[in-house]
Amino acid sequence: MRVLVRQIHNPLIWVLIGAGALAMSLGKPIDGAVVLGVVVVNAVIGFLQEFRAGRAIEALIELVPDFATVVRNGTRLTVPVAELVPGDIVQLASGDKVPADVRLLDVRNLQVEEAALTGESVPVAKSTAPVEAESATADRRSMAYGGTLVTYGTSTAVVVATGGDTELGRISSLLEGASKLETPLTRAMARVATWLTVAISVVAALLIGVGLARGYPFVDAVLAGITLAVGAIPEGLPAIITIALAIGVQRMARRRAVIRRLPAVETLGSTTVVCTDKTGTLTRNEMTVQELWTPDSGVYRLSGVGYAPDGELLHGADPVAEPRADVQALLRSAVLCSDATVTFEDGAWRVHGDPTEGALVVAARKAGIDPERERRSRLDTAPFESERQFMATLQAGEILLKGAPEVILARCDDLDRDAVDDEVERMATQGMRVLAVARRAHPGSSLDDADLGGGFELLGLQGMIDPPRPEAIVAIAACHRAGITVKMITGDHRLTAEAIARELDLLAASDRALTGAELARLSDAEFAVTVARTNVFARVAPEHKLRLVRALQAQGEVVAMTGDGVNDAPALKQADIGVAMGITGTAASKEAADIVLADDNFASIAAAIEEGRRVYDNLVKALAFVLPTNLGFALVILLSVLFFPIEDGVPLLPMEPAQLLWINLVATVALALPLAFEAKEPDLMLRPPRRPGAPILSRFVLARTAVVAALMTAGAVGLFLWEYYLEVDRSVPQAAALAEAQTMAVTTMILFQVFYLLNCRSLRDSARTIGLWTNPAVYLGISVLLLLQLGFVYLPFMHELFGSAPLTLDAWLVAGLVSATVLPVISLEKWERRVRQKKNKEVRVAPP
Ligand code: ATP
Repeated sequence: MRVLVRQIHNPLIWVLIGAGALAMSLGKPIDGAVVLGVVVVNAVIGFLQEFRAGRAIEALIELVPDFATVVRNGTRLTVPVAELVPGDIVQLASGDKVPADVRLLDVRNLQVEEAALTGESVPVAKSTAPVEAESATADRRSMAYGGTLVTYGTSTAVVVATGGDTELGRISSLLEGASKLETPLTRAMARVATWLTVAISVVAALLIGVGLARGYPFVDAVLAGITLAVGAIPEGLPAIITIALAIGVQRMARRRAVIRRLPAVETLGSTTVVCTDKTGTLTRNEMTVQELWTPDSGVYRLSGVGYAPDGELLHGADPVAEPRADVQALLRSAVLCSDATVTFEDGAWRVHGDPTEGALVVAARKAGIDPERERRSRLDTAPFESERQFMATLQAGEILLKGAPEVILARCDDLDRDAVDDEVERMATQGMRVLAVARRAHPGSSLDDADLGGGFELLGLQGMIDPPRPEAIVAIAACHRAGITVKMITGDHRLTAEAIARELDLLAASDRALTGAELARLSDAEFAVTVARTNVFARVAPEHKLRLVRALQAQGEVVAMTGDGVNDAPALKQADIGVAMGITGTAASKEAADIVLADDNFASIAAAIEEGRRVYDNLVKALAFVLPTNLGFALVILLSVLFFPIEDGVPLLPMEPAQLLWINLVATVALALPLAFEAKEPDLMLRPPRRPGAPILSRFVLARTAVVAALMTAGAVGLFLWEYYLEVDRSVPQAAALAEAQTMAVTTMILFQVFYLLNCRSLRDSARTIGLWTNPAVYLGISVLLLLQLGFVYLPFMHELFGSAPLTLDAWLVAGLVSATVLPVISLEKWERRVRQKKNKEVRVAPP
């Protein structure tokens, strides 16, 4: 309903309704009825479009399904949330969206943000202790509710209610709001529309005065004013903008970028910097352990075995040939201190959990180790958090610790630190992610942070590769050509980051990456300079990401930032475009993001930017197409009221209000809409990004509007007068001559639009350069329009409604010839602009 009201609550529409009512009260019932009918049709079309677009966006959000981690038959599995049933045991970790209403069985520092339920955005600490049966939802500390977000800690819990039976499910019908179809662009257009309406109303009022002064009868003077208002208002424009945006959203979804907030469609087109994660976005997230190292045995190589994107093991059986006991211990301890599992499902291997750990599990399986059996003895866990960069577990009197080498080595005694560091550096320089594993005796049955500070014995290192995605290399090159800077931000080791960045062409051989620790030492001023210059950041913590986005934005950049962890949410919100990962991203990051990548792939960001640019281009094309017609109408009416004779008390008007509406709606809807489907221009990703805040009514659009409007006006007015006096000379009665001449003027306008549409398919190039047949919708639109126009000219009921009259073949030919002049004129204008731009470029081009 709100969407429907919005269609009518629009100043343009109010002017139309006023004009229709006025026409009726002045004894022009048909004109009045046509105007009012058009208002209704327009509102209905607008409503249907918005409604459909809104639905389409809602449906897209569901494209990114939520998953939950459950334990069934002792095995950890990842299942879609819809498959959960009461009684399931689920595991929660920071960043998860709680998949159902659950009773907590075991918690470790669990904090949950329940804003979705209670509106309170400060996280609540949870515990397992029972609470009073009567306590309010917000006070039930031993429960976690579906749809809320885990911000810290972990928990095991049992599902008590799912789907519509959950607390949030029961109230969600109340929360369901109409999805907003508003963007900076639609708001800017609304402002332009208001401004136009005022201007047009003033001009129309003046026109009525001029008409009266020239001796127009009152009714005719007012009618001329109404005609001007109806003709000058671009009624079809709002529908075109909504549709172009909706098409953009759908095309982005097809290219694996799911829009969560509509304004992102526009902002994407003006993105100047993309800050991206490494793991999984630029690389395949198919970690494979390649090298093991232990203090006693030295380097131990595994042959190149991995798993495919869907988790399939490529060469399942490739056993590690008789590893020595210390290597066995390294492999075993690494899986004991991991949560990921590998299962065989539907004929393929799948990793559940962290791919880094998946690699450790696969390596251990090759040595014949069964992770699940080993893990049964686990007593306690300190989960992996990006900030700490390690994970610890306790079993059989031993703490096992695995994580980033610097962090682990700092906790180890009796160590030839230099020798180990050399080993780490050697692996990292080859682009490997290196994990260190250590152990320490511990008699207790639970873990405390104090137990993790030191006294460990190093078991060894595991180096895993995660190759770059080939399509990311292509996409990065495309971004560079499009004037977009790509910055890689990773939690990984500096040397690993540098090696991968070089493979991706993000870092010159002589340049180095900056680490989070180095960033933290910089003052704000130094930070700003360094951030602009550096393209690779390593060992970065989420709070650095926020500072980075802010610094870039302060320099006028439009920043897209990717993130997957719960702590990335602030940076995603701050960025102009927050990008979350559909597969590996936490629910918290998806909630904060503007777009979600269904395939976690950097190439999809580049694709979305390309689509964003296309949408904007097509909107400019639609404007450049629609506006000249409106200005043309205004000029035609102005000219006739100012200068045309008044014969026998009847002023000559080249077009009636209803006829103007006919052109305005039929032509814009049939012809401008196809422009929204226009394919991308060849140089779309070769131009620099659009300046943010550049007005959509650019100098180009205004100049083009003036040129085409002048041409159209001259053609339509000239042919109107020619036809009118020809008929009058043949002593055709005045009314019939007027009807014929008006039909001629309308037909000329329509044919002008047909030819001009061909020009508008590209803003810079000729239709031939972009391919004559690349957009069949254009020809469909033209065919429909010509058929309708034939009806307008020859069908008797159209004559009744619009006051039109049949035309001769000669008249059509003359109208066609005159309107075709727009082709060479605009081609000339484009050519002139191309030459000018080339010259400018030659002057401006700087050496690479
Ligand atoms: P990117 O930012 O490129 O996506 P990332 O987010 O995977 O990288 P983190 O997950 O923060 O980076 O990992 C940082 C470091 O923590 C890794 O380099 C690794 O040494 C260590 N690490 C990663 N996963 C685990 C894990 N499951 N257990 C222990 N240590 C880990």
